[in-house]
Amino acid sequence: MAKIFIDPGHGGSDPGAVGNGIQEKDITLRIATMIRDMLVSEYEDVTVRMSRTSDETVSLSERSNAANAWGADYFVSVHVNAGGGIGFESYVYTGVGAPTTTYQTAIHNRIINLSNWSDRGKKKANFHVLRETNMPAILIENGFIDNATDANKLKSASFLSTLARGHAEGIADAFNLNKKDTGGGGSGDLYKVQIGAFRNKENADSLAEQARRDGLEAAVLFRDNLYKVQIGAFANRANAEAMEDRAKDAGYATIILTES
Ligand SMILES: [Zn+2]
Repeated sequence: MAKIFIDPGHGGSDPGAVGNGIQEKDITLRIATMIRDMLVSEYEDVTVRMSRTSDETVSLSERSNAANAWGADYFVSVHVNAGGGIGFESYVYTGVGAPTTTYQTAIHNRIINLSNWSDRGKKKANFHVLRETNMPAILIENGFIDNATDANKLKSASFLSTLARGHAEGIADAFNLNKKDTGGGGSGDLYKVQIGAFRNKENADSLAEQARRDGLEAAVLFRDNLYKVQIGAFANRANAEAMEDRAKDAGYATIILTES
């Protein structure tokens, strides 16, 4: 059983960074909650605790102490950057090696691939939650709240969901978590509903944007040298077909890709 401790940065009297009408403490809680829900509902043999589940004040030592007392296998601190920049970066403690750096690579790459964010790199720093936790730990800076382009992305529910998806898949990679079999034939296959694939990222982004306006949860993924627009991935083929029908009704050309 993998014990994953998720730490939404800031909260309560500490808003974290603010800018463009949004507060870091709200964004981190939304992303962290989605990561927890994805891990617990979609993967086997994983248990999740959070340093906070609402808008409450929690000190840094309360966060590291809670993870240490629980005996977490991994500490994931979710933050949003500020101070002049754009894009995505992640941190581990100064001087650490594997497996902390291996886990960092897994999560970092998943988020970059799903979000298409500019990659500011895998970094190291002497942050409290990285230093005072007894287990491998990562701190993730999800874009810059004081940059209008990044902030606009962070205002989108579907983009936050994409970020959470990147964290969850990266954690699953790091800990070799298996997907739950949620019905269907018990094949273990994953059925992905795709509405387009492009060489040009702008075309994929614009189709995804249109799909979101039509109420579909579209994400752009870079796979096999193509920008693919996906509107869902399901363990159960019937659920994928239901989503396909919804997209067809809205006028999209769809295909279901099976990934085992
Ligand atoms: Zn922060």
